[in-house]
Order: sequence, then structure tokens, then C-alpha cells
Amino acid sequence: MSEHQRMEVMCHVRNCQFNEKQYCVAPKLEVNAMHGDNATSSKEALCTTFMPQ
Ligand code: SF4
Repeated sequence: MSEHQRMEVMCHVRNCQFNEKQYCVAPKLEVNAMHGDNATSSKEALCTTFMPQ
């Protein structure tokens, strides 16, 4: 068993290669703050695993 928790990720970014029927199927997700290491709202927490189709 993985040492990290796994969960379903619902995502509405339809043009990402990892999006299947509004769920993320990427083997691993990375999320980063828009500026440095801190975000002040969800708008500044970005999925950097995103790959356009
Ligand atoms: S990699 Fe990010 S943008 Fe792409 S489907 Fe997964 S959560 Fe959405």
C-alpha cells in the first residue's frame, strides 16, 4: 500500500489529457501556488500536472 493517501479527483478542465468524464486519471498530481509557496485563495492553487490535448 502506498504511503500517501489516494482519492478521487473531480476536475472540470475538459481539455486536459488526464481528464476522463470529469475525473482526473493522472497517476500523480502536483499542485503549486501561483506565486512562491503560499496561496491566498483557490484561484492561486494551480494544477501543474495539466497537459493540454
Ligand atoms: S491533471 Fe489537473 S487539470 Fe488535468 S485532469 Fe487532472 S486535476 Fe484536472
